[in-house]
Amino acid sequence: MPIRQLPDTLINQIAAGEVVERPASVVKELVENALDAGATRVDIDLEEGGARLIRIRDDGAGIAAEELPLAVSRHATSKIASLDDLEGVATLGFRGEALPSIASVSRFALISRRNGAEHGAALEIDGGRLGEVAPKPHPQGTTVEVRDLFFNVPARRKFLKAERTELSHIEEWLRQLALARPDVELRVSHNGKASRRWKGEGDLLSDVRINETLGEEFARNALRVDHSGAGLRLHGWIAQPAYNRASADQQYLYVNGRAVRDRSIAHAVKQAYADVLFHGRQPAYVLFLELDPRRVDVNVHPAKHEVRFRDSRLIHDFVYRTLHDALAETRAGSAVGVAD
Ligand code: ADP
Ligand code: MG
Repeated sequence: MPIRQLPDTLINQIAAGEVVERPASVVKELVENALDAGATRVDIDLEEGGARLIRIRDDGAGIAAEELPLAVSRHATSKIASLDDLEGVATLGFRGEALPSIASVSRFALISRRNGAEHGAALEIDGGRLGEVAPKPHPQGTTVEVRDLFFNVPARRKFLKAERTELSHIEEWLRQLALARPDVELRVSHNGKASRRWKGEGDLLSDVRINETLGEEFARNALRVDHSGAGLRLHGWIAQPAYNRASADQQYLYVNGRAVRDRSIAHAVKQAYADVLFHGRQPAYVLFLELDPRRVDVNVHPAKHEVRFRDSRLIHDFVYRTLHDALAETRAGSAVGVAD
């Protein structure tokens, strides 16, 4: 075959292979966009585990009608404009890939009304075929509708699991998010029935959300951690050693508000527990690490589950020291639980 330039739709479908694994990845990308737009409330309507419909509606800043086609173009973003911006990026998104990727593997609609605009507008894309922008009533904010995910990529569609499994992936991700953003109200409905609701409770991580996500027993055994130093802040809750798990199922780590997996930090936590946990048992925690965005590279993985720290050793030691000290207090018997 001669070398040829691939058509845009195919390029987007290839990119979708990286960011759109299953309905939960679509929910993640769309809710992240809502949060980046400053939403205080996000409604998530699902049908058939998201395979038939994912509809995300937010009350954020919205998109101007004339920018709708740009929003669904590849590598178009309002979040960064230069390498310098990329290095200090504080939004969840910045790659400009989610909407075009999702739109290329679904029947997609974007409806929005920009803050201050008189009317809303809509743009539909059917399996990558772009329609025309048309006026459509919409309150301030944005709705994204994703129907029949992977309808045009049979190989992918085949790999979707049972409705319940896909739904539980979505819920697991939403729980993670609800822990990090207690200020945002999230409502979920599935097949027309309200299924979950997290109220926007203010800026403190509330015990309610901890109870819901990790269970009351965790909450009763949790130690509050909040320590700053060397331009780093680590805060959240860690379980006292008496509360431990057979697997790493209750380990939530956020770096600048983004849920990530990080080997070095996981190792630091484990080390801190080394002499107080039985071999093979796992600690439970919800930890938030905050630092200057310039000290962490979030552009490591298309789905952004991983980050790279510029001074990884320092961060490892900071986490280890903070948790080791917090646990030392439990050994001295001065533990205080977060919930009575
Ligand atoms: P990214 O989030 O990396 O910028 P996306 O493809 O997810 O890329 O979105 C492209 C652009 O569309 C965003 O930069 C933003 O300007 C706009 N956008 C997407 N979703 C929303 C939303 N819910 N509210 C406001 N603007 C949005
Ligand atoms: Mg995005």
